[in-house]
Amino acid sequence: MIAALAELFASLPGPRLRDTCPDAHLGSSPRRARTLRLYLMKASRYADDGRLMQFRWGVIPGNTLSVMSGLARAWSASRPQIDLQLVVWDELVDAVLDAPTITSIVAAAAADGVDLLIGLVGVQTGEYPRARDLALQFRRHGVAVAMGGFHVSSDPATRTFLQSAGITWVSGEAEDTFAPLLDDFLARRMQTSYAPTGGIRSKTGLGTIQVPSVATAPLPAIELRYLRRFFNRRFATIDTSRGCPFVCSFCAVKNVMGRSVRARDPQRVVEWVRHACDEHGIHTLLVVDDDLYRSPTWEAVLTGVAALRRSGRSISLFLQADVEAADGHDQAQRFVEKAAAAGCYQVFMGFESLEPANLIALRKHQNRTVEDRRGLSDLERAADDLRRRYRRVVSRWHAAGVGVHCGYMLGLPGDRVGCGSRAARELADLGVDIVSFFAATPLPGTEDHQSALADGSLVTNDWNFFDTTHFVRRHAVLSRSELEHEYRAAYRTFYSARRIAWSATTLHRVAGLSWSSRAGMLAQQLYYGYASRRGWHPMLGGIGRRPSSERRRAIDDEQARAIYLADCGSSPATREPTAGIVSIASTSSAHAQAKLSPMRS
Ligand code: SF4
Repeated sequence: MIAALAELFASLPGPRLRDTCPDAHLGSSPRRARTLRLYLMKASRYADDGRLMQFRWGVIPGNTLSVMSGLARAWSASRPQIDLQLVVWDELVDAVLDAPTITSIVAAAAADGVDLLIGLVGVQTGEYPRARDLALQFRRHGVAVAMGGFHVSSDPATRTFLQSAGITWVSGEAEDTFAPLLDDFLARRMQTSYAPTGGIRSKTGLGTIQVPSVATAPLPAIELRYLRRFFNRRFATIDTSRGCPFVCSFCAVKNVMGRSVRARDPQRVVEWVRHACDEHGIHTLLVVDDDLYRSPTWEAVLTGVAALRRSGRSISLFLQADVEAADGHDQAQRFVEKAAAAGCYQVFMGFESLEPANLIALRKHQNRTVEDRRGLSDLERAADDLRRRYRRVVSRWHAAGVGVHCGYMLGLPGDRVGCGSRAARELADLGVDIVSFFAATPLPGTEDHQSALADGSLVTNDWNFFDTTHFVRRHAVLSRSELEHEYRAAYRTFYSARRIAWSATTLHRVAGLSWSSRAGMLAQQLYYGYASRRGWHPMLGGIGRRPSSERRRAIDDEQARAIYLADCGSSPATREPTAGIVSIASTSSAHAQAKLSPMRS
């Protein structure tokens, strides 16, 4: 019944799109010496049936697109002789980038006499196959393409391939590299690769890297056309700091952004929030910092946003923090209070597991109790203490009026039959409002990936499945079908019809929660119940999946090269996926209306 209601909800008329223009006027400018037409694109992913994932409405705008747009606009402001035409295109919610669309983008640039550069940004590992397929198609037209993001930054083999295909790769954060890249492109000397060289040296989990200072870096741009693609069009994102000091073995953040946390100037952040609210009507912000509590400027940022609220602005925040942010000394108490005063209605924390042994395997030591870390507890007592700690943390956030959203991983070494539904029941009992369950995934560049390579436990090399919803590593005890069953059971149990009905009928009545938090938690309960029943991860999908004629044609890099670079015909992929997780169906791309902008028809 919940699924039917959610489908009905999704089929209601969407937000009206009053502005059907692209982000920038696309046409040559007679006043400037040169015109750069820059497409900042975020690739979607291929679903298990081989079709492209596309949604009528998104739920979380991509912060990388906003950050890169901000960098591009700042570059443009200091290059008066250049006319920048910027187009932001998120394939998850915008029009499909099929072959006719790519051809028309290239042809229009040639007809207008502008320089065309394609930037595939923020490419995560599960998105890489689609990003690569797009990059190769643009390359076949002779267009310059640059690609960056976590996957490119983390996988040397990918970088080698991209370079061999004439695709410029950009590793790490782009604050110091994007302006030189654009200058080089216009000077016809774009390099094969760009990586941060200035800034500071920062430790990772595996070595050291160079990371830029972000104190005075350009802030993310608010692209209103883009934000209208999302169910809550007054929702935007900002990063106030980068990096994370912890060493979780599954996480690429510390290896790409380093363990030295660097922050933006808090006054500029607060001014950005004021501007977003006053000028663009933004009222909800996802602060994407991986752990705001570890930012050196959290207090100044939260104090500044609280002052904006006191002056009458309606601003709500969704933050990420670690468990200790609500279970420690005075500073933790202050953090919770300040977050609540700044309008925090939801906090995301990575609980990851209820089993101390799993936390040890993940090197998620910050979640463990002090006694456990000191070796003073046996496993049984450590497990009891851990549950007590989580309960205490949830209660403290609730007492401040803030809803609790936790991340939880399945497929960890200590997991056994029944782990999914048991975890869901226990998390509900602890009072957690929303849970995002993930399949434990050894992402490239992490310690878990290295150990999976060393012990031969990877069951596929197909990056498409490294999206935290597929089990790509063999488990010592559970079969893949058992793992998949546990994953589904976890969602079904936590978002059972009974629990969602309770949330709906009581307006998520939880002691302490503010009205805005209760409304937010109810909306998310409905959405998570809907998305998980429809078969996509709530954080990776959206509302109302659109049928897409675009299908996957290549599995690995060389196959993609053969299809998209050497032979652009419609011959389908014939090789089976390495793990047999998905079947790739063949199709020729339907002829879409030629498009220059990401607006859907
Ligand atoms: S999982 Fe979170 S706490 Fe752990 S290293 Fe990554 S960002 Fe930091």
